[in-house]
Amino acid sequence: MEKPLYPSKVMRITQGYNEGSHQDSFAIDEAGKDTSISPIYAPFTGIIKKIYQNDANEVWLESVDKVQYPDGTIDYMTILFAHANDVSNLFVGKKIIQNEVFYSEGTKGEANGNHCHIECAQGKFTGSGWFKNNLGNWSINNGKKPEDCLWINDEITILNNYNYNFKKIEVEVLEEEPPKEETPKEPKEEPPAEITTAPQEKDDEKPFEETKPQLIFTCPKTDLYGIYLKKDEQLFLKK
Ligand SMILES: [Zn+2]
Repeated sequence: MEKPLYPSKVMRITQGYNEGSHQDSFAIDEAGKDTSISPIYAPFTGIIKKIYQNDANEVWLESVDKVQYPDGTIDYMTILFAHANDVSNLFVGKKIIQNEVFYSEGTKGEANGNHCHIECAQGKFTGSGWFKNNLGNWSINNGKKPEDCLWINDEITILNNYNYNFKKIEVEVLEEEPPKEETPKEPKEEPPAEITTAPQEKDDEKPFEETKPQLIFTCPKTDLYGIYLKKDEQLFLKK
């Protein structure tokens, strides 16, 4: 299951949520490494659900499958991106692969300087994709805090995280060694061992009696002896 990644390789958030033009929303502005236009990477594998070119070239990307949120939620995710100057390469229904550059910063719409306006939402794309909030701005439906939706990893440089605590995807190191942990557990589990032995005894009762050693000969002294055995006949020696 995919973990949605922060969509810029350099995190430089210039406006947080619930402030200024982002009041009554969980929108953030991502400005990239500098004032130039930085690429925006797909946080997850998704489908373009809507493109709104009359304003800020807003694009809604909906995950193709449920994704793993940093806060533990497992659900679909939809993210709105805004301000790219050119979205002619995109169309509704286009599939975007996680980590693919599909969007970019820009100034389309009411943007001061190149950046990307990002709004995360839990669940699939719903209704028209957004609603007019208390400030009179359009905001994504079912919005959710970005740090509860997006992960960071070693490839992402943090210049300004706006004091949002983004959770990092830890590189999976093969230190778990589950076989070693499980192996010593088995001998410790004596009760199950006894349980498995008990029914075996029951099952083997009759055969065991049949093959039970019977005293035939007591060796009078240490020496070499010869004995004639028939096929499949078993010989038991008791000291
Ligand atoms: Zn914004």
